Amino acid sequence: MAKQAVQLSKKKRTTYRFQKLKMCKKCHRYSVLKDEACPTCGTKFAGIESLVKSIIKKRVTTEVIRLLIVVCLGILFAPTIHTMYYSLFAGLIFCTCYMALNTMFLKSEYFHQLKKLLRVDFRKIQAGIQFDSDLAKADVTEARLAQADEKLREIGDLISTDRIKIRRVMVLNKIALRSDMELELEPLIPSSYDKNFVKYALEVVKINRTLMTKKGIAYFIHYRDAIVIDFGMDSLIAAAGTALRMRLYILEFAPFIEEFLDYFPKERVLRLCNIIHANPEIDWGSLKETTIRLVEKKYSYDPDFKRFSIGKERAFSHA
Ligand SMILES: [Zn+2]
Repeated sequence: MAKQAVQLSKKKRTTYRFQKLKMCKKCHRYSVLKDEACPTCGTKFAGIESLVKSIIKKRVTTEVIRLLIVVCLGILFAPTIHTMYYSLFAGLIFCTCYMALNTMFLKSEYFHQLKKLLRVDFRKIQAGIQFDSDLAKADVTEARLAQADEKLREIGDLISTDRIKIRRVMVLNKIALRSDMELELEPLIPSSYDKNFVKYALEVVKINRTLMTKKGIAYFIHYRDAIVIDFGMDSLIAAAGTALRMRLYILEFAPFIEEFLDYFPKERVLRLCNIIHANPEIDWGSLKETTIRLVEKKYSYDPDFKRFSIGKERAFSHA
């Protein structure tokens, strides 16, 4: 089946995951999607932060009113004019201290109220996300893949379950991926082997190999047997090739790289040689020896490898 050519939207980033949550005050339904207004009633969504702020504001206002009522009662029932002044004075000091303490502990109060709201509204939040998820499902059914991906991405930012990750990967596998798209790989790594994910990862690596991070390479190593059965040896060679991006990755995955060294294209081997050559102080273990032998065997007449093959061991050990 031909892949769909679409334009994927840019991701909306937030400092905390919970900031994605918003609620329709009319339907009392939560959502994590990008929509500004509730698709059911059209009311503008209120962000979770503004909900918490309004709870705090309401609580402080109620308590200040209660305090003022007590102060007023004290003034009204004061037996002498002096007692009345004392009540007024004490009341004002009390209100000022109360406001000052509230301002001082506003941040901790904010997180306390936030936790409380998330706990109390847990079922509502769950139902809201399920509604969002159903909207994504409808998009997939009607082949609106960009919209489905956007919804699943927003949901996945809040709850990173394997189910959401795989659903998103399956959508992305139907899209013709391009380098100008804001692709991601690490956030989609599932906790167990999944063929759809590996298919997506191999596609992404072809477009942008920088997306293959330490976690991604480790995933390929961990599930290598299943990956070879489903995608062949080339998939592991591709994963090992991405490990040559950084010196730290080369050190971390040296045995994995060494295993597939013979199958790397020339530019990858050249890159490895350059890194080993530029870092003579690092103990590369047997990877260095294997690289030297490969250069001697395959590239001894290649001018690009001249500086590595002349003097052999010395060329690598001299920075
Ligand atoms: Zn609504």
